Amino acid sequence: MSKDTTLGYDDVMFSEEDPSHDFYRLDSKLTARERALRERVSEWVAREFMPSVPKYWEAGDLPRSIAAELGALGVFGSSIDGFGGESLSARATGIIMRELERGDSGLRTFASVQSSLAMNALSFFGSEVQKSQWLPEMRTGERLGCFALTEPGFGSNPGGMETLATRDGSGWILNGRKKWIGNADIADMAIVWAKTVEGDPASIRGFLVETDRPGLHAELMSGKMSLRCARTSELSFDRVSLPADALLERSPSGLSGPLRCLNEARYGIAWGMVGACEACLQEVRGHVLRRESFDVPLGAFQLVQDKLAEMLTFTTHSHVLADRLSELKDSGQCLPEQISLAKYSNVDNARKVAALARELFGGVGILIDHSPMRHLINLESVATYEGTRDIHRLVLGRALTGMQAFR
Ligand SMILES: Cc1cc2nc3c(=O)[nH]c(=O)nc-3n(C[C@H](O)[C@H](O)[C@H](O)COP(=O)(O)OP(=O)(O)OC[C@H]3O[C@@H](n4cnc5c(N)ncnc54)[C@H](O)[C@@H]3O)c2cc1C
Repeated sequence: MSKDTTLGYDDVMFSEEDPSHDFYRLDSKLTARERALRERVSEWVAREFMPSVPKYWEAGDLPRSIAAELGALGVFGSSIDGFGGESLSARATGIIMRELERGDSGLRTFASVQSSLAMNALSFFGSEVQKSQWLPEMRTGERLGCFALTEPGFGSNPGGMETLATRDGSGWILNGRKKWIGNADIADMAIVWAKTVEGDPASIRGFLVETDRPGLHAELMSGKMSLRCARTSELSFDRVSLPADALLERSPSGLSGPLRCLNEARYGIAWGMVGACEACLQEVRGHVLRRESFDVPLGAFQLVQDKLAEMLTFTTHSHVLADRLSELKDSGQCLPEQISLAKYSNVDNARKVAALARELFGGVGILIDHSPMRHLINLESVATYEGTRDIHRLVLGRALTGMQAFR
């Protein structure tokens, strides 16, 4: 990799001098604390994480040791009060996701799985004992969790799941399979969603399952062409014996439990997309100012400026939406449909921005030396998980018509 193309500090750290940054000055709303948080996370991503991205990408891995570093930055459990920390504003949680995704979607996914999904499931539905046993060490990254909802045969329709927890004395026996589970092979525990009555979606409950239980097996999935800086596994449960207190006692029956956690993660994705857009725009702006064609910088051509303007527009739209969502969330007025709209449309915007940026890099844009193609490929996963574009539009269709077009 040549020196001038190395991914590093200048290309990734946000810069208030960059005219593409925060075009509508939304960051002026940040409190001093939120601003310090953004700078802390952004600096770590730029200095510590980015130099290793090509290595992680080529290996298809993200080391577990990154958890302690993220824990020290304070990115886990930012919406949870007590148990080793305090809750921050919704905007602060969003800023964390924005800065992590500026580095790589795999990094943001790592934090989303731990924080928005596993820790929030415990915080919403766990007993006081479960929370005190797990949340403090999950905050520091000493212990990792994962969130197991999807199955080989049931993705967009998790209500069809076949994983079953049956009563065994006062405890439970768990049987079934889960697929696409982030961090599962390195996690200490899994939040597993299972039916307690075969064939009845209304009987779905959450269970806290330690991953060293006999009968539990995690198999790392290989061949991922997207989100390569992330570990994704299949989980199988073969007569896994669970104590009575494995049940998340406050988890409601049915899908509303997992959906509540997914809403938190989708909110984080809406913010993450702002970071992906900003990273692509910032990096490509530097390139078109430096790279010459027909004896002038690329940035002097009208067609190039048109693409930059398009990228700035999509980035700004996403930022405005995410920022407003944080206000709705902090005032307790945020609807799941509003999160659906921001999740799918901000991912759409980021895909367009990453594609335009990749194009403007020309041939070198396909090399790992530059971020837009990596973001673009990652976004294929982000568009699929946490509810596909189709499902979120169906959710909006239901909100507008009162009729559910999916079951
Ligand atoms: C990298 C990655 C990480 C993941 N991490 C996790 C995790 O940590 N935990 C977890 O539980 N899951 C995880 N998932 C699973 C993810 O949530 C599912 O992939 C997603 O819900 C889509 O399900 P599916 O892949 O089975 O696609 P399908 O449901 O088979 O959908 C295929 C296509 O059909 C469309 N479709 C489906 N139903 C309809 C309909 N009614 N109308 C119109 N179109 C429809 C979809 O939009 C999609 O385009 C992850 C997935 C990926 C790719």
